[in-house]
Amino acid sequence: MISAEQIATRVKELGDLISRDYKDGSVVLVCVLKGSFIFAADLARHITVPTRIDFLGTRSYGEGTETSGVVQITQDLSKPIVNEAVLLIEDIVDTGLTIAHLIDLLRTRGPRSVKVASLLHKPARARVQVQVDYLGFTIEDKFVVGYGLDFGERYRNLPYIGVVERD
Ligand code: 5GP
Repeated sequence: MISAEQIATRVKELGDLISRDYKDGSVVLVCVLKGSFIFAADLARHITVPTRIDFLGTRSYGEGTETSGVVQITQDLSKPIVNEAVLLIEDIVDTGLTIAHLIDLLRTRGPRSVKVASLLHKPARARVQVQVDYLGFTIEDKFVVGYGLDFGERYRNLPYIGVVERD
């Protein structure tokens, strides 16, 4: 669906935008595990302002390719984010339930701001309205893998975004 070259070009553009928007300060990049680890690693290398990187492990209850909207935190941030500018880095916003939950959670911890960067967005399936401040690509309603995204823990290492064909 999206080639490695297209991804690289877009990720650099997002990094430039983020660097411009945060130019007067620093930002805490919160990589939402596991799916955004590759996006976060590439994006971080295009951000020129001072950053700190932290990780949030999440699991959405539910089987297969459907989210239940109930998000379990499997690994919390390693440090407080009081008065910090926080940028949540997600792989994909689908129903929006996961990112909405994470925004609410982090806002209870007194950050200066919480913004969202997501590589992909599937607006067709939105169940809650979420503002994605830095968006890579809007895609149609297909289950995708690669560049960090999995299907049953496989395919995360594909360098491109591909579509899983199901019979
Ligand atoms: P949401 O809560 O927005 O429905 O779902 C967010 C999470 O569901 C993503 O972080 C991702 O882990 C998973 N997800 C949603 N759509 C896809 C998809 O097309 N492919 C993969 N691999 N995961 C998806």
